[in-house]
Amino acid sequence: MSELVIKGLTATVAGTDILRGLDLTIASGEVHAVMGPNGAGKSTLSHVLLGKPGYEVTGGSVTLDGADLLAMPTWQRAHAGLFLGMQYPTEVPGVSLDAMLRASFAAAEKNPDDVPALVLAEAGRIGFDEKFLTRPLNVDLSGGEKKRNETLQLGVLQPKIAILDELDSGLDVDALRMVSRRVEAATEESDLGVLVITHYSRLLTELKPDHVHVLAKGQILASGGPELAAELEDTGYAGYVDDEPAAEVKAEFDPFGDPHGV
Ligand code: ADP
Ligand code: MG
Repeated sequence: MSELVIKGLTATVAGTDILRGLDLTIASGEVHAVMGPNGAGKSTLSHVLLGKPGYEVTGGSVTLDGADLLAMPTWQRAHAGLFLGMQYPTEVPGVSLDAMLRASFAAAEKNPDDVPALVLAEAGRIGFDEKFLTRPLNVDLSGGEKKRNETLQLGVLQPKIAILDELDSGLDVDALRMVSRRVEAATEESDLGVLVITHYSRLLTELKPDHVHVLAKGQILASGGPELAAELEDTGYAGYVDDEPAAEVKAEFDPFGDPHGV
């Protein structure tokens, strides 16, 4: 049984406060859906949890089974059992999926020779065409194929806690069903804890959330059960945002950032 505990987390990006005292606890086997308006800080939360450069933690704590994640470099956080499925998965020319997963297995003292069979089994479970498996990581994959590639890695690596940022973006209905079923199955097969960021309750028909949270203004402003997701789809976030549009943060050029703007 693992537990990711986020307490009073505050963080700045490019000199602006984005996270403003965020509390969230995710335990093994649980699915927490985080929903919220554009620019609320959802992806910032995912980046801060994995330690992306440029996202500065100014207060609060994050622990995984009591260990201080914020004190660790990114690779150690992954080694401790944290996984991030990025909103915009990065293309890594020159590095194959096989090489990346073998290196991860070796680092975790698992047998790298087990990787090819696991990859094939996972590809089958989510309908991911084998022809994509030999490409450099995410290179020339469509948005939806990248999301399936991330899900495949999740299945092979079996982390303790997964953060999935807009897992549904770019996926067609059939792919969405397979991917969300796979993640839901992991919550039972390997007791995975999930923090899934989404705008749409349709993702949550197969990947069933135990808790739904509204992230707005850098905080969790409301929490409830699955009914909250349905309610938000009807009402939007009007009750959670100011009438005044939030001040735009001027984005600095980030070569690894979202190519379509944040
Ligand atoms: P969400 O995922 O909830 O839509 P984000 O966490 O991506 O929102 O962004 C929150 C705010 O932080 C936005 O105003 C965005 O412009 C800003 N922001 C995020 N990343 C950066 C960055 N690398 N540089 C500058 N501003 C950023
Ligand atoms: Mg985002």
